[in-house]
Amino acid sequence: MTGLAAATMAAPLFHALPAAAQQRRTIGPVHTPATTANRDLPLVDFHTHLQRRTTAEDLISKMDATGVARLVLMPLYYGDGGGSVNDGQGSDEQARDYGARYPERFAPFVGMQRGELNGREVMREQTPQGIRLLRETEAKLRTGDFFGMGEFMLRFYPYTNKFGIVATSDMDYPADGWLMRQFADLSARYKAPMCFHAEAEPHVADAVRRLVEKHPEAILVWAHNCGRSSATDIAAMFQRYPNLYADLGGMVYSGPNVEAYGVYWPRRTQWMHLVVDERGTLLPDMKALFERYSNRFVIGTDIAHARVYERYLGHIPRWRHILSQLSPAAARNLAFGTANRLFRLSTAGLQRFAPIESVPI
Ligand SMILES: [Zn+2]
Repeated sequence: MTGLAAATMAAPLFHALPAAAQQRRTIGPVHTPATTANRDLPLVDFHTHLQRRTTAEDLISKMDATGVARLVLMPLYYGDGGGSVNDGQGSDEQARDYGARYPERFAPFVGMQRGELNGREVMREQTPQGIRLLRETEAKLRTGDFFGMGEFMLRFYPYTNKFGIVATSDMDYPADGWLMRQFADLSARYKAPMCFHAEAEPHVADAVRRLVEKHPEAILVWAHNCGRSSATDIAAMFQRYPNLYADLGGMVYSGPNVEAYGVYWPRRTQWMHLVVDERGTLLPDMKALFERYSNRFVIGTDIAHARVYERYLGHIPRWRHILSQLSPAAARNLAFGTANRLFRLSTAGLQRFAPIESVPI
């Protein structure tokens, strides 16, 4: 091997960071007086998606009507065609624009629901399209306009819903493949939470554990209550991995005719564990988990497709019903406290982001 070849191979994938590169735009903590009842808390909706025809003004009006202070926007790039109906076509530029216009209300993420990530090869090994997406993502994180990355789709069951949405891909990509490990490095470097969807079948959960373990500086948010894991398994992982978080995206919707992750939908497996019963009451083991580890949980409505936003107003009361079943401290963490801390993490050792304040919760 020539010296030049060795130097080329050893060249870092990412640029050296100039001193001012990691300045994320500041965002104030959501807060409320200590006397606010659980049911009335301001909410940070940490798991939502952005589609082309969803307007910022419509989102703001829905948030104002329901007491949602802040929304994470994860652009859904998927379009229609080839049997799929996604009502998506969102983009990072759109999310950044919404964040610029309403800086305290929207927290844009770099979107990862992209057709180019549908394939084992790109997730498992080094490919030109993987490298390109990593570089583009880093450039976006460096602007300071983005607060995270996601939703990465790893183990996903296809579905058709009553809105006519058809998600066709039955995905099973390695959580600890080359690409996710590179993104975990980016997460660590920019203290950018990365949200991923991975139904916790045994081989999937094993791969997630390897990813978390190999990247202790990354901020990993395992969507849908750690892929609908059991309370016992989640507690064991939280105990072992301080950098692991869970979002509860869609997990509290229950009852007849529900199409969401709060029920055994769109498929039932023996590894699937619910959070609420059919009346929306927390199951005892999950309630104990949320009380014990409330500083690891965020909530989310998980509106994935533009036409489904019409459900938004009806979803929020379910979340408020959940909060009313918790202690004030746990309710505040789920409603906004954990999200506050995730948005205000500092780069390890550099402290270029606003330092974490002790937000009263
Ligand atoms: Zn998801």
